[in-house]
Amino acid sequence: AVQIDELHKSFGSLLVLKGVNLTAHAGEVISMIGSSGSGKSTFLRCINLLEQPDGGKVAIDGEVIKMKPLANGRLGPADMAQVERIRARVGMVFQNFNLWPHMTVVENIVEAPRHVLKEPREKAVEHAHALLKKVGLAEKHAHYPGQLSGGQQQRAAIARTLAMRPKVILFDEPTSALDPELVGEVLRVIRQLAEEGNTMILVTHEMQFAREVSHKVLFLHQGKVEEEAAPAELFGSPRSERLRQFLARTL
Ligand code: ATP
Ligand code: MG
Repeated sequence: AVQIDELHKSFGSLLVLKGVNLTAHAGEVISMIGSSGSGKSTFLRCINLLEQPDGGKVAIDGEVIKMKPLANGRLGPADMAQVERIRARVGMVFQNFNLWPHMTVVENIVEAPRHVLKEPREKAVEHAHALLKKVGLAEKHAHYPGQLSGGQQQRAAIARTLAMRPKVILFDEPTSALDPELVGEVLRVIRQLAEEGNTMILVTHEMQFAREVSHKVLFLHQGKVEEEAAPAELFGSPRSERLRQFLARTL
């Protein structure tokens, strides 16, 4: 489970997150929607400490991330051992796949389990092949990312994330960089992960998909959760005027 309380983050004088709360229980899929610049990526990046939050509390699977208060009232970094522990439990899938271009698909997948989890090579490779089969890429294991379509690269990136057996998976607009005809194959994999009971936080512009797979949807506006509800309610009868306008623009 993921528990975020009053998360704050600024870049210089720009206040990006102004006290965001989120709870994702085990097996829940939470989607986050909102306009460009509302802070969605920053929020995800604070959860796995790719960004250092300035204030608030982050707990992953019951482990509270201990960030030391600084003299200016903001929070300092957590200790590196904890950061590594948290990152090993929180998987992230990026818009632009972020596969290592000089490694084959299977090498991309075994890298972190081998070096972070210290899995024996044979076991990591075996797991990688099972994951490639799951995302429909069994025959592409020896290809380099540059030899794959965008949809295939993103499915390989998802397999790489799953290889760490994460407690929670963060998706940051996983289909936004794809040609329209490749979106479906990636959404199918994400839907399967949702149905299997993975805990996931999904930032997306695919409103119909968010409506179908999510247990809860959050609408972020200027660094605050403006509205939060079950998908049928949030999309079907939005309460805030800002959300109504946002949905009118995107649907
Ligand atoms: P999009 O839908 O376009 O991806 P977003 O909701 O993910 O938008 P963020 O990327 O979180 O928005 O950015 C929120 C704000 O923070 C923006 O104004 C952005 O310019 C700013 N920002 C993000 N990262 C940094 C950074 N490293 N340094 C300075 N400003 C940043
Ligand atoms: Mg973003």
